[in-house]
Amino acid sequence: MLPVAAPVLADGGLAVSGERIIGVGPAPDITAAHPRARVVDLGRSVIMPGFVNCHSHIEYTSFRGILDDSEFGDWIISLVDVKASLTPEEYLASAKLGALEAISSGITTIADTSYGAASLQAAAEAGLRGRLYLEVFGVDDKRLDETMSDVERRLAEAQAAAPPRFDVGLAPHAPYTVSSRLYQAISGLARERGLKVMSHVAESKEELTYIRSGSGKFAHDYREKMGWERMLVQPFGVSPIKYLQQWDVFDPDFLAVHCVQVSRDDVRILKAKDVAVAHCPKSNAKLGCGVMPLADLLHEGVRVGLGTDSPASSNIMDMFDEMRTMLFLHRAVERDVTVLDAPKCVRIATLGGAEALGMQDDIGSLEPGKFADFIAVDVSKSHFAPIDEPYSALVYGANQDDVLITVVGGDALFHERAYTGLDAEAIRRAAVGVRQKLRDRVRAGGVLVGAAESGWWQTAGAPGEETP
Ligand SMILES: [Zn+2]
Repeated sequence: MLPVAAPVLADGGLAVSGERIIGVGPAPDITAAHPRARVVDLGRSVIMPGFVNCHSHIEYTSFRGILDDSEFGDWIISLVDVKASLTPEEYLASAKLGALEAISSGITTIADTSYGAASLQAAAEAGLRGRLYLEVFGVDDKRLDETMSDVERRLAEAQAAAPPRFDVGLAPHAPYTVSSRLYQAISGLARERGLKVMSHVAESKEELTYIRSGSGKFAHDYREKMGWERMLVQPFGVSPIKYLQQWDVFDPDFLAVHCVQVSRDDVRILKAKDVAVAHCPKSNAKLGCGVMPLADLLHEGVRVGLGTDSPASSNIMDMFDEMRTMLFLHRAVERDVTVLDAPKCVRIATLGGAEALGMQDDIGSLEPGKFADFIAVDVSKSHFAPIDEPYSALVYGANQDDVLITVVGGDALFHERAYTGLDAEAIRRAAVGVRQKLRDRVRAGGVLVGAAESGWWQTAGAPGEETP
């Protein structure tokens, strides 16, 4: 058992009453202390807190693999088209597939960013814990009042629909899609109502170029695609972090997602404002954005959690794979093995995420009083043998298929590798239908696909024709 906030327990036991943990210790002591309790023997497995996925977009689960080889600027421009082609029901089908994957992958909490309520409904049906960050876009300050009343309306709807395990926050999308005044208006509303805020910040070099010099792909192609080409583009001359700092949007309730394009100065600003960071190493690497300076952030003491990002960018929601990629990338970049080890990775993926989301009093570690959100990972299989260090087995060897059970608030949502409350086949079937529509949308043209040269995935344009 890995309580995370305490040392490893061989033959560990966990006592659960209702939705909370009431005891953690050696299994014989726990069973002796609760003689009338039902005992579940999890065999040769590692018991640990459920993963806290600090950044996801489960409504994009059906998008996985569609834009595998686009660089960030083209990828996000293409997504504008693909996203517009789905109905709310189709988004729900896609989100349900994501919730299904989260449960079987040992994710018990998601911090999900979504425009509509699809991911909220899917996560509620699945029994996941988490937060929905409602996405907001807007660069036209003449429409600021209209945008904010729309935000208030969507917020009220989402709060009314949120199940007990979920709360609702706000997500001004990114510095290139949200004006400084809209960022400030959202901050004001969030502070007034006690809401958490997340934003995609300092993700790509395109964003850096746009904020610094008002030029590049975001100043032209992206704004044209969004219909914003008539709006004035201003060069701000600073980094995205300094840009947001000057509008006073940073505080301890702000989660900055990505933070790849950050300097030492930027890291110090994040620390000074106690901004939390969601690290998405696979998504950033796959889209060619770069590697977040994790060592600097940890050195400064910034709260950091781990996120898979959306399946549209990182394909799978496997937190084991995400931890492993994080460890390998940072050791490779820093040319230093001491920068990160397996226990630190597990901590970032559990308690670190809880701290980043402000949920550390309730989740992230196995401690009496916290919610009974835990998983068991089967380590009886040959790819773990021989095992004498559980942290190492999980980070270097495990994957999402090794999860045996997933429990949220004392409810086993996944038990002996089977879903207890979801019809997995029906969910997969519905998502395949959505995927077919997305494929047709891409084939109909107008969508950039970086894999065009490889020939397997063609747009409708004539050979050699530039699209769009
Ligand atoms: Zn995102």
